[in-house]
Amino acid sequence: MHLTVLASGSGGNSALIRAGETSLLVDAGLTGAAMETRLEAARLGPGGLGHVLVTHAHLDHARSAGKMARQHGAMLHCPQAMMSNASVRRAKRLSTLPIGPSFALEGPRGERDVEVTAVNLPHDCSPTVAFRFDQGASRAVILTDMGHEDRGIAVSLAGANVLVLEFNHDERMLETGPYPWALKRRIAGPQGHLSNTQAARMLQHLASERLHTLVLAHLSATNNTAELALEAAHACLDGLGLAGRVRVLVASQDETGEPIAV
Ligand SMILES: [Zn+2]
Ligand SMILES: [Zn+2]
Repeated sequence: MHLTVLASGSGGNSALIRAGETSLLVDAGLTGAAMETRLEAARLGPGGLGHVLVTHAHLDHARSAGKMARQHGAMLHCPQAMMSNASVRRAKRLSTLPIGPSFALEGPRGERDVEVTAVNLPHDCSPTVAFRFDQGASRAVILTDMGHEDRGIAVSLAGANVLVLEFNHDERMLETGPYPWALKRRIAGPQGHLSNTQAARMLQHLASERLHTLVLAHLSATNNTAELALEAAHACLDGLGLAGRVRVLVASQDETGEPIAV
């Protein structure tokens, strides 16, 4: 299984997962044209996309989800509450995303290469989910757009080999930064986004001996820096005795990342 972050941040989020013959997108938060450019950079051939999964209805995740599914003839999986949403209605093939129970995604010849588990997250768009992908003993987890840390959620998503985790903001930069007060309150609130400190606390329960790559995701361009997010992540990994054993990357808003072998 390989995971490629196509875009990450408030300007749009998307990741590509390839497992055996099955290729899927998690979110399509850029415009359709920008999504195609990022997919080209990830060397996904035409007709290669089998599934599009959506974490939640916010536009930085759902913007072109229906369009991408339609263009690629892919199945769009989204929560029941999103079925009438304009961004997903354009898909021709729609499937209700089960939240909680695991399910298998079918490849082009009916093979069941990858198992998916969607887990509910506290965020100001209901429902919002994190995804766990299992192929044999390989596990990848994508967890962004979470308002506060939750040990139970971390436990249910633990054991990943590759973990994409939101490090949205530095608490001091948000507090002293230029955002209007109401927006600051929303982001820092229990249904907003994870600060570096909160993300590190989630990481304490998510990380295990199996983790080899951690991707810091959904960084705010205004209220965070890569240096501060990396500092928080490394301090946490040091405390867990995992320093030097885990590669830490920062996901980019502007370009397709390298494919990460899970
Ligand atoms: Zn978001
Ligand atoms: Zn969101």
